[in-house]
Amino acid sequence: MGNTLKRNYDVVIVGAGPSGAAAAKGLVNEGLEVLVLEKRKLPRYKMCSGIIFKKSQDITEKFFGKIPESAYVSPRFLKGVRLWSDNKHFSDWPFNKDSNGAPNIWRSEFDYWLIKNCGAEVKDCCVLKGFKDYGNYIMLECHDTCNDETIHITCKYLVSAEGSKSVIREKIDPDFEKGTKWFVAYQNYYEGTSDLDPCFYHGFLESRFGEVYAWFNVKDGLQIFGTAARKGAKIHPYLSEYTEMLENSFGLKVKKLIRKTGCLGNDMCTTGRFYLGKGKVLLVGEAAGFLNAFGEGISCALSTGLFAAESITKGIKSGNDAIAIYSELTKVERRQTKMSWKLGAKIAGRDLMPL
Ligand SMILES: Cc1cc2nc3c(=O)[nH]c(=O)nc-3n(C[C@H](O)[C@H](O)[C@H](O)COP(=O)(O)OP(=O)(O)OC[C@H]3O[C@@H](n4cnc5c(N)ncnc54)[C@H](O)[C@@H]3O)c2cc1C
Repeated sequence: MGNTLKRNYDVVIVGAGPSGAAAAKGLVNEGLEVLVLEKRKLPRYKMCSGIIFKKSQDITEKFFGKIPESAYVSPRFLKGVRLWSDNKHFSDWPFNKDSNGAPNIWRSEFDYWLIKNCGAEVKDCCVLKGFKDYGNYIMLECHDTCNDETIHITCKYLVSAEGSKSVIREKIDPDFEKGTKWFVAYQNYYEGTSDLDPCFYHGFLESRFGEVYAWFNVKDGLQIFGTAARKGAKIHPYLSEYTEMLENSFGLKVKKLIRKTGCLGNDMCTTGRFYLGKGKVLLVGEAAGFLNAFGEGISCALSTGLFAAESITKGIKSGNDAIAIYSELTKVERRQTKMSWKLGAKIAGRDLMPL
């Protein structure tokens, strides 16, 4: 994607996930020149359960249209979340009672569709390495990994949509970064079978399976399950106890390992230490700390991307501080994110992020 790169834009967005795509869409709709940089080759794999909650569905439908068939997996819709307090007892939390349920999708296809339809110029295989704020413009240093060359791009505003680990956040506030705690999530994909209802997303809350919680779902026949623990803790004992329980209690039979993945997450969402940005640099989605309890984060990635776009547009038009506008616009989202973790802890009967 994106071969004819200009060297100057109104806004550069770093990250081609849902927050970056939404920010780009909002800015392009206002007539701004926007570039999205993505370090990976698109479409890129994203570790995720790929469940599109109602709020995400509403936002994508309003701004991008109907989710394409290519993104859906089998089963196409999930009925709800099934939370297991042990291997015998569960409670069901249905999705969208008045519709089919929540779309079950592959993130690679879903995110690719969003970014292709955001209207901005998109450059993949391009890593943001650093930047310098000169007051009236920002100079970015990027590495084009396909051609192995350094590129310099200037912009008026910079948006970090980089996900939980953000080079931009690290650069603007190293002290903030020092106070951030991390967890590691692991997820494996197997060919195989099990007795767990594939029309539900399953969460296992017993702390013997993981420090956060352990999860299970089915996509195109693949048995996908994972767990999470604080960075530095040994994950193998949790994962093997969890796998054993799935085999003994739910007839899990794994044949071939298809994919083994891991990713980092942080505690900004639970502690309410959101980081919205500084000067003309705004952070959106997980880079800013937006992630709801049980790991639902697409809805707040989309909404904060759009809020950042609105803030930048208003900032340019009025000369007012975009961060102050963004802070106001995200007030409710921040409160809801924090509240979701309190509610999650109540449901689980324990802290869901004991880092
Ligand atoms: C196991 C798991 C399951 C989940 N399941 C769900 C679910 O079912 N439903 C849901 O709503 N949410 C789910 N989430 C959460 C959801 O995946 C995230 O909250 C969401 O992807 C955040 O979107 P984002 O745009 O902020 O960041 P991301 O989607 O992480 O996108 C960030 C992008 O930035 C790129 N990037 C990073 N740094 C740079 C750089 N320096 N230069 C260039 N590019 C860069 C990355 O390659 C990436 O493509 C899950 C998360 C996990 C870990």
